Amino acid sequence: MYADIIVDITHEKLDRVFQYRVPSHLEGELSVGMEVLVPFGRGNRETKGYVVALSDICNYDESKVKELSDISRTGMAIEGKLVALAAWMKEQYGGTMIQALKTVLPIKQKENAKVKKRVCLLLNEEEGKQKLNYYLEKNQRARARLLAALLDEPILDYELVSHKLNITLTVIRALEEQGIVTLESEQVYRNPVKGERKAKEITYTDEQQYAIRTFWEEYEQGKRGTYLVHGVTGSGKTEVYIEMIRRVASQGRQAIVLIPEIALTYQTVIRFYRNFGERVSIMNSRLSAGERYDQMMRAKEGKIDVMIGPRSALFTPFPNLGLIVIDEEHETTYKSEQVPRYHARETAIARAGMEDASVVLGSATPSMEAMYRARNGEYRLFEMRNRSRMQEMAQVYTVDLREELKNGNRSILSFQLQELIADRLEKGEQIMLFLNRRGYAGFISCRECGHVIKCPHCDVSLSSHRNGKMVCHYCGYEEPKPSVCPECGSRHIGEFRAGTQQIEEIVKKQFPQARVLRMDMDTTRQKDGHEKILAAFANEEADVLVGTQMIVKGHDFPNVTLVGVLAADMSLYADDYRAGERTFQLLTQAVGRAGRGQKKGEAVIQTYSPEHYGIVTAAAQDYDAFYEEEIRYRVLMGYPPAENLLAVLVSCEDEQLLEKGCRYLKEYALRIRRDAPLEIIGPASPGIGKINDVYRKVLYLKAERYDTLIKMKNYLEQYIEVNPGFQKMRIQFDFNPMNVF
Ligand code: ADP
Ligand code: ZN
Ligand code: ZN
Repeated sequence: MYADIIVDITHEKLDRVFQYRVPSHLEGELSVGMEVLVPFGRGNRETKGYVVALSDICNYDESKVKELSDISRTGMAIEGKLVALAAWMKEQYGGTMIQALKTVLPIKQKENAKVKKRVCLLLNEEEGKQKLNYYLEKNQRARARLLAALLDEPILDYELVSHKLNITLTVIRALEEQGIVTLESEQVYRNPVKGERKAKEITYTDEQQYAIRTFWEEYEQGKRGTYLVHGVTGSGKTEVYIEMIRRVASQGRQAIVLIPEIALTYQTVIRFYRNFGERVSIMNSRLSAGERYDQMMRAKEGKIDVMIGPRSALFTPFPNLGLIVIDEEHETTYKSEQVPRYHARETAIARAGMEDASVVLGSATPSMEAMYRARNGEYRLFEMRNRSRMQEMAQVYTVDLREELKNGNRSILSFQLQELIADRLEKGEQIMLFLNRRGYAGFISCRECGHVIKCPHCDVSLSSHRNGKMVCHYCGYEEPKPSVCPECGSRHIGEFRAGTQQIEEIVKKQFPQARVLRMDMDTTRQKDGHEKILAAFANEEADVLVGTQMIVKGHDFPNVTLVGVLAADMSLYADDYRAGERTFQLLTQAVGRAGRGQKKGEAVIQTYSPEHYGIVTAAAQDYDAFYEEEIRYRVLMGYPPAENLLAVLVSCEDEQLLEKGCRYLKEYALRIRRDAPLEIIGPASPGIGKINDVYRKVLYLKAERYDTLIKMKNYLEQYIEVNPGFQKMRIQFDFNPMNVF
């Protein structure tokens, strides 16, 4: 028998399989995905690798094929099915096979968790007391001691139980058998409400019922597919996922639920816990390597039905995967920023296809990609337009900042917003002020007429550079910064700059009675800083929360009845074709923060461009209208999802060499393009032209068909591999990138 091996060395030249002879004593044991040790290279150094195929046929000169040394006893095996997925990812997104294999293997080392274990009481107080009396009567002292302690404190660390209370594991196991206690590892979310493990009874709305029924009818007929649930926040999407999972699990199949890390809160997880109890598990970045290993093993052994986690949980090695749910499908964190730069949505669909599973996507503001495919009939669309508990949507006001300036208000807070803030402070209700800002170099705009300077070729805003020029990050076009507005002649033209800290100061000065909290990169740097601020605000320890986009995601504050968006334009004119989409999503989310409780909410959107469709449609909370406008722009400009874009990011320490490399790449691309309908743009300097003394440039390839770009990537990869001139350069591919570089 022979094994095809991918060695664990990331190098383009070694990016192919090497065949080894399998020693007879390993023949029964070896399988695809296993980590093995092989002699490699001229010195036959022992090297790690992964088995990607097994066969009886030797493809090389038999006498030159070396023998595989052993199965690695410390490594994790990759699920056989995930090896195929890795190959798909390599083809779709570029990079080497070993990089792809490591991506589908989120845990590298076998490392049993040193999990903190806890003993939890499962009885209510009355039952507990009865049991305690029984033990005391029977003189079962250890049991009585444990139960008495648990009646005081229903969850105790195992350490404490075993050392301080001196209770053996046998005793705990005995009580566990009788359903009195349970011994758990810390990462399993416990229901904090004793005895109330049952899910709440729900009568589904018509919209919910339709989604569940349609999905299930198709599923039972053996039809698999991708479904998009478009439903406003609170429309009951999560309840729909839970019911779908319940049904899939009833057939002995498992589900993966992807949630953006930031929304992976206790509240979300506990809802799944209430429904699936011990059969649900969670992956997040706070787990140690050992804890992650334990979770993966539980999944592999079929001990759980549901895995909840961020992007990487997609690679959970379930034996019989039936469903993948991606909540908040539009979130940019679903795209990996490391090679292979995969998108979880596409990769989930690929995995589902390989394992006969379905995919359910959900969002209040679906990505252009998902909605485009849903409208094309590629995905099935479920619309959920009503909130399940019929809260009213917030009242939204748009304030034109140009008018404010004319009326003599130079503050970042418009008159209307000031009035409403004063009103809420008086009523003891809470306020969120949100600064829509991303870490980009600023766009140039006029404070008097709102005009924004754009690239004449790409219809994205130009970015201000230190050298006094404005640059396009797509095509490299540049022009000098103007001193007056080309539209109205005003001298108030420049980079828009305002930070959360300034806003905090302004609010404190104007409303000295207000208690203000600020949440941004600075205040959340320390561990758990994020959660602490949100918890303080939830406990109403502050009246106002000022922050960047991190405050608008995934949290419910019932006492917030006013949301102010201070400068909605800030992401609108980011130098990126997705700017309009992001603005719409952020504004919709921000507006949705107001009035989550019983009281009706209001929101103020301050902007220099109140007529921009991204702002108008967000204020009207009208996704369909936004989509219509946005897709027209994408089609017109040939941006995704209408067409496809491949960014080729080249970096090098030597600036001249970099320029030369880019020139060669572009020439080669033009040459091999032949008649293919393909546009080649750039090279342009990315937003950050130099990082740690490494220069960067980016070429964009635009084509109608994705597979045209895959072919181009494959040709370019070969070209780079055989040309020693590229050895000092790093070249990465990014399909339909989320960010401009
Ligand atoms: P989404 O995921 O769309 O934001 P959720 O599923 O979280 O919405 O639902 C919002 C709230 O409404 C939750 O507390 C949920 O339990 C409740 N809910 C959802 N559907 C129903 C229903 N049909 N009847 C009663 N309550 C519901
Ligand atoms: Zn102007
Ligand atoms: Zn341009």
